[in-house]
Amino acid sequence: MAVHDDCIFCKIANHVIESDYVYEDDLVAAFRDMSPLAPTHVLVVPKDHYADLDDGVPAQTAAALLHAAEEVAKAEGITKSGFRVVSNSGADAGQAVGHLHLHVLGGRRLTDDFA
Ligand code: 5GP
Ligand code: ZN
Repeated sequence: MAVHDDCIFCKIANHVIESDYVYEDDLVAAFRDMSPLAPTHVLVVPKDHYADLDDGVPAQTAAALLHAAEEVAKAEGITKSGFRVVSNSGADAGQAVGHLHLHVLGGRRLTDDFA
């Protein structure tokens, strides 16, 4: 498995460092953002390391990420009220952590550019 020793999300996704998990399967893990911007703010990450959406992500992994985002929304009870899925790729998007992740946001009216 392509896990990077110096990557925080590799460590969390593979339980080298534990976090507050909401969902997990063979390919991805979902855990709460440490600086939540909404009542629900969960990050969905692949267990293998990809820098962003432009890093040769296999279709099966991309599908697993979206599936997990929906599972998170269901588990959080926000499918009816609504939720947002965001992935920042690269500098213009303000990507801060260089391991592909989806933000799942909900639980309040989302009005900002990002959240
Ligand atoms: P980006 O700007 O890269 O799309 O978002 C990175 C997100 O990761 C931010 O919302 C930040 O709060 C979150 N984050 C960064 N480091 C950690 C961490 O060690 N644990 C958790 N749970 N979230 C993190
Ligand atoms: Zn990584």
